[in-house]
Amino acid sequence: MRRRSLLALPLLAAALPRPGLAQAPGRPLAVASFSILGDMVRQVAGDQAALRVIAGPDTDPHAFQPRPSDAEALRGAAVLVRNGLGFDAWFDRLARAATAARPPVMVTATEGITPRSMEAHAHSHGGMERRQQHSVGPRRIPDPHAWQDLRLAQDYARTIARGLAAAGIAAPEGEAFVQRLAALDAWVRQQVATVPEARRRVITAHDAFGYFGAAYGIQFLAPQGVSTAAEPSAAEVARLIRQIRAEGITAVFVEAATSPATLERLAQEAGVRVRGRLYADALSPPGGPAATFEAMVRHNVGLMVPAMRGEA
Ligand code: ZN
Repeated sequence: MRRRSLLALPLLAAALPRPGLAQAPGRPLAVASFSILGDMVRQVAGDQAALRVIAGPDTDPHAFQPRPSDAEALRGAAVLVRNGLGFDAWFDRLARAATAARPPVMVTATEGITPRSMEAHAHSHGGMERRQQHSVGPRRIPDPHAWQDLRLAQDYARTIARGLAAAGIAAPEGEAFVQRLAALDAWVRQQVATVPEARRRVITAHDAFGYFGAAYGIQFLAPQGVSTAAEPSAAEVARLIRQIRAEGITAVFVEAATSPATLERLAQEAGVRVRGRLYADALSPPGGPAATFEAMVRHNVGLMVPAMRGEA
């Protein structure tokens, strides 16, 4: 009897939840496909849900390749949150593989949003489209980067709050978050209004700011298409260099989580200076300049506005 209990004790201890695991006992688990959505879930749910993020800070969600352990992270989730519009299709595959036994609520943050369409550049998603491009000309595809428009980000927050509710998770901070995003939207408009209209042009690594540009009246130019998956063509880079020189564009940026090489070369050849790193598709780690979605927007606008104005 005594021996049995001695044997049983370590087994029992091993089965208890270990401190430091994300999923505290009793708290339902929410899993978000990438860091920006993860922060939105956190802002909306507060501490009502345990949270896991698959494509974390400083990780490019376009090029993300899930590992088997990522499928494991979805196990037991009450709710899954994805962007949709083709952005995080890898997350759908993970979800199918990991959660067959008890399907969680799947939230598509862009549900109900009318997407912008964008030109699928020849290189946007690799070989297949490149071949199609040569035979059928530019194709239009939905632009997935809708979070960059802060009015649409408010829709994201409401959609996430509804999805959490459907999974039995309270969203006590949801309305406060929506209000902060509305205030942030007004602040961005104020900031952009200080830039002369003719100077509202920004060059960055890939077409991530279409919604931002449309919402706030800024023209974004990028050598790389909607995805970060492939190299831009030499012709496209040369065209941008001519445009920078001809129009006196001063706002040139690299992007976090993507290679800076093309933009640095482009800036050098055009004789302008790279003005810093914008955060487009991923947050920075905690302690960085874009650790939350709101901090990301303030960081980006704080760099873009003086750069567009041509200030030193
Ligand atoms: Zn992107």
